[in-house]
Amino acid sequence: MNVRNCKKCGKMFNYVAGPPVCPACRDAIEQKFQEVKEFVRQNKVASMKEISLNCHVEERQIEQWIREERLVFASDSPIKLYCETCGAPIFTGRYCGKCKNDQANNLGAAGRKPEAPAPASSQAGSSARMYSRK
Ligand SMILES: [Zn+2]
Ligand SMILES: [Zn+2]
Repeated sequence: MNVRNCKKCGKMFNYVAGPPVCPACRDAIEQKFQEVKEFVRQNKVASMKEISLNCHVEERQIEQWIREERLVFASDSPIKLYCETCGAPIFTGRYCGKCKNDQANNLGAAGRKPEAPAPASSQAGSSARMYSRK
C-alpha cells in the first residue's frame, strides 16, 4: 500500500496514480476546474490574472490545465500560448498540431539516422610498389 501526504492539505491518503493529492482535494480541484472552464467560456478575453482572481485559483494550476489540454482559449483571448517547438500560436497544450504530428511521425520512424557520409572509395588493391627500376 502506498500512503502519501496530500500535496494540498497534508492529509495521509492511499496513493494510486496521478498527482499526489487526496480524493477530497482532487474533487475540489475538479470542481474548481469546471468553475474556471465556465468562467473562461463566459469571459473569453479574461487574462490569466483575472481568471486567477475571479475563480480563486493559482495561475500555476491554470497553466497545468492548459498543459493538460483541458483548458482551451478563444482566439481573441489575451492569453497567448506558443508551441514549445516552433513558436506557432496555439490555444491549448504545449505544441501546435503540426509539431504534434511531427512528433508522432518521429516516434514511428525512431532510429532514423542522419544520412551517413559516403564511404571512402576503397583504393582498389594495387598497393603501389615502392620499387623503382633504374
Ligand atoms: Zn488533500
Ligand atoms: Zn509547432
